[in-house]
Amino acid sequence: MKIFLNFSKLAVMGVVISSILASAQPAQTQENHGIVVSSIDRSVKPGDDFYRFANGDWIKRAEIPPDRAGVDVWTKLGDLSNQRMADLIKEISSSTPPAGSELRKVADLYNSYMDEAAIEAKGLTPIQPHLEAIAAIRDKKQLARALGATLRADVDALNNTNFHTPNLFGLWVAPGFNHSDRYTPYLMQGGVQLPDREYYLSDSESMRKIRTQYQAHVAAMLKLVGMSDPEGRAKRVFELEKAIAQTHETLAQDEDIQKANNTWSRTDFSASAPGLDWDEYFKGAGLDHVASFMVWQPEAFKGESALVASTPLDSWKDWLAFHFIEAYGGVLPKAIADERFAFFGKEMAGVEQQRPRWQRGIFVVDGLLGDAAGKVYAEKYFPPEAKAKAQEMVAQLIAAFRKRIEALPWMNPATKAEAEAKLGTLYVGVGYPETWHDYSNYEVKPDDIFGNIFRGDLAEYQRQVARLGMPVDRKEWSMTPQTVNAVNLPLQNALNFPAAILQPPFYDPEAPAAVNYGAIGSVIGHEISHTFDTEGSAFDSQGRVRNWWTPEDLKHFEAATARLAAQYDTYKPFPDLAINGRQTLGENIADVAGLSAAYDGYKASGQVAPTVDGFSSDQQFFIAFGQNWGEKTREAALRQQVMTDEHSPGEYRAATVRNIDAWYGIFDVKPGEKLYLAPEERVRIW
Ligand SMILES: [Zn+2]
Repeated sequence: MKIFLNFSKLAVMGVVISSILASAQPAQTQENHGIVVSSIDRSVKPGDDFYRFANGDWIKRAEIPPDRAGVDVWTKLGDLSNQRMADLIKEISSSTPPAGSELRKVADLYNSYMDEAAIEAKGLTPIQPHLEAIAAIRDKKQLARALGATLRADVDALNNTNFHTPNLFGLWVAPGFNHSDRYTPYLMQGGVQLPDREYYLSDSESMRKIRTQYQAHVAAMLKLVGMSDPEGRAKRVFELEKAIAQTHETLAQDEDIQKANNTWSRTDFSASAPGLDWDEYFKGAGLDHVASFMVWQPEAFKGESALVASTPLDSWKDWLAFHFIEAYGGVLPKAIADERFAFFGKEMAGVEQQRPRWQRGIFVVDGLLGDAAGKVYAEKYFPPEAKAKAQEMVAQLIAAFRKRIEALPWMNPATKAEAEAKLGTLYVGVGYPETWHDYSNYEVKPDDIFGNIFRGDLAEYQRQVARLGMPVDRKEWSMTPQTVNAVNLPLQNALNFPAAILQPPFYDPEAPAAVNYGAIGSVIGHEISHTFDTEGSAFDSQGRVRNWWTPEDLKHFEAATARLAAQYDTYKPFPDLAINGRQTLGENIADVAGLSAAYDGYKASGQVAPTVDGFSSDQQFFIAFGQNWGEKTREAALRQQVMTDEHSPGEYRAATVRNIDAWYGIFDVKPGEKLYLAPEERVRIW
């Protein structure tokens, strides 16, 4: 579970959004180490709207560039990371690394993406054999085999949290819920292009509009590849996706670990989910040797499998063809790539123009050769001193968290002992991994971007399948060093803090402790506390699903978290769309607990920052936290986030402060102010 939604990867791999959030938050200049005073809006009372108090003047000034869905502090660092990667790739290219080496693959992948002339010259030739193979499918048995061949390792329930795949199903390879020492296959629902079932089923005007535009987009894509009757086919593809969406579970249901703990043997599939020829499906997927799977959403598997039987073969063939074109549309001739952006970028996210191609090229490299590029990045931009300092800060936050657990008045000693055991076995990765992914089975050709992406996705899938049954590497990372984010891996009981987030404005060795604890400290605390959120707390110190709670403690935890869910349910970014307190609960718990632990860590440091522009050291701590979340986002993208992401928008993340007792005295917050909560209404969990 990560700290922040990160759209940029999805951008390329093609699924959710074409390009999103960018740079521009508070210009924290090199002379300025600490809170950004010029972002603060002093006309807003902190107790009424802490988010606009901390960020208001910046929000008034900020402009969203035409190629972005929004701007915030995270995207500013993301841009820096991309620029550095671009420079590194240029250096790598000009040094002509030996053929077959990882660096050569990085250079060839990037350069093949950049070569638009070659893409135009090839036209539809690269995808033609695939479309012909789909057209040649004669019966449901062959269909099942073809559907199996589309399975990729493109979902992730608990680490980077991505529940969406346009393929019929998605594979996630991770430690087993019940056998946490071995890699286990998890299968998850899929089959729709739009980001979530609500896009197909909601009655709201904005969703109805998107559905109309989407159907037109499907027709346009089919027309561009020369298929007959594009409108008729588009209608059938849409109807099939809608039927699939009806079988899907909601995101809030997906996050319930107990509901997802279903082991199905191979025979269970045909018995419990008849319709699809499962033997053929697993053969197509190269998984016929695997005896059992974890099935995340059994009802969706029943429903989707039944649809394979009940829907005419031709509709499925149109669906397969369209999904194939959509998946690779970004590296097909410009007319197709533009149509894809017009829908997924403009309509779905409100973005006016595509990001520059070189930036999209960086995302392609990050997605397919992220560790190969990351190795070079870490060497250059994350010196051992930076690593040592960051490790020290993490250790202080863990110590603060341990103290909080010891002091919890409501928790029984037995539960406390288990919670402390989890902290004791937590692996904390800082900067970059100890071992790197091996890309030796991935062939990259200098002038074949379609093939490079197709083979890259397949190589990653095969790498994951090859690990099934093998012992788990608890120190394996799930983020690259150049990623501006942080993540908790509950099944490994591990944290990753990539190099790219451990720099200003989140972490600045020159800034006062108050500001570092408010900014990066709350991020570190957030990730540590995912260990104990509604999902994380389902796993024990070994990463097994096990209830280690006494019944009274569990009752208290559930009551407190239900109150937090209710608090977030009241937030309404739009008159017709509220935050879903259940869907965002894990992240909101992590925000409350992370900020509490960061505040304790700051107090334990004993350091007091000099007053800045009238703001005390304690005020700077909370302002730094609030400034993590300043953002300006286009309406379409914000709606998409509210419906499809576990993270609340920045405004409501900044409002976390209202649950922290210390904040009231520090900003003199009084009853009657909008964020004011009476002491008994504040949610204290950890
Ligand atoms: Zn998180």
